[in-house]
Amino acid sequence: GQTIGILGGGQLGRMLAVAASRLGLHVHVYEPGAGCPAAEVATRTFTAAYDDTAALTEFAQSVDVVTYEFENIPTAALDVIEALRPIRPGRRALATSQDRLTEKAFLRDLGLATAPFANVESAEDMAAAVDEIGAPAILKTRRMGYDGKGQARLKTTDDAADALAAMNGAPAILEGFVVFSHEVSVIGARGLDGAVACFDPGENVHEDGILRTTTVPARLTASQRTDAVLLAARILTALDYVGVLGVELFVTETGLIVNEIAPRVHNSGHWTQNGCQIDQFEQHIRAVAGWPLGDGSRHSDVVMENLIGADMDRVPEIAKSGAALHLYGKAEVKPGRKMGHVNRIVQGS
Ligand code: ATP
Ligand code: MG
Ligand code: MG
Repeated sequence: GQTIGILGGGQLGRMLAVAASRLGLHVHVYEPGAGCPAAEVATRTFTAAYDDTAALTEFAQSVDVVTYEFENIPTAALDVIEALRPIRPGRRALATSQDRLTEKAFLRDLGLATAPFANVESAEDMAAAVDEIGAPAILKTRRMGYDGKGQARLKTTDDAADALAAMNGAPAILEGFVVFSHEVSVIGARGLDGAVACFDPGENVHEDGILRTTTVPARLTASQRTDAVLLAARILTALDYVGVLGVELFVTETGLIVNEIAPRVHNSGHWTQNGCQIDQFEQHIRAVAGWPLGDGSRHSDVVMENLIGADMDRVPEIAKSGAALHLYGKAEVKPGRKMGHVNRIVQGS
């Protein structure tokens, strides 16, 4: 059978590997860190750095197609792989989403609503950005940020200097603070044949910058739900995308505003494992393997809760409750570390 290569061996890589294995596919994982969550599930694991050209070459030659569980893969590593095997989703999606400025400009040029934003690479840029956008606002590093890391909030324009200092010289964007009632996300998929399928939008609650829960169905009107799905489809098509993509949205009085996109399976899509016949992980593997997309319609109402750090103490009690537990097999519990999640079916439909 086919062999799928996955860059990154964290929990997303692990759950992708499980899905691929269920489809009878082999999985080779490439991950610099030893003892990663995906290694236990993979057929073969390459433990090597992203600048190890020989290891990258051997990895690429050992698989039929390469996908990834995170978007911050160094460009040089992608160049080595792309010369040998297809990368899905493609380079365009990666280049767009690796940099918040490129991403926001792409979304704006598609005609989608975003927070007002401005590029900040110097004190002069910052002054101009604050003039234009005002406060409250959020300064975010353009690259590498996740779980709210690399962000500084400006309550008033007086916070500008401190916020800029917190970037440590890294290029950033200043975003106007969006007043929203709640946050939702759409997990969309596009096949090699161009077919698009979206999962039902989920409603997300964050705590300390980290996703805490996703609830489906989200509180959305019928037209908001349609809008969310259509805008995700537009993003997928514009990027000539193959695979699963997460789109984070703010729900406001003036409509849906796109916060960010992630060119991969997404934490806010974990509910699909127990709420749909075909979950986001199988959908992604189907797409990158060139299979037809599956039926991702939602059959149950679900609340997904992340198990973060010391939440692991509650696992015996959760296990007794009979809810669907998904643990990532991480040896060490750390504060803020995603250790697993639980999907509770609230109501079958
Ligand atoms: P992730 O782990 O989702 O990749 P991240 O580090 O990329 O997170 P964002 O999604 O940009 O960070 O921001 C984290 C959270 O901060 C958002 O989910 C939202 O609650 C809040 N937030 C971000 N940008 C804005 C904004 N412009 N206005 C209001 N709230 C915002
Ligand atoms: Mg992000
Ligand atoms: Mg986010």
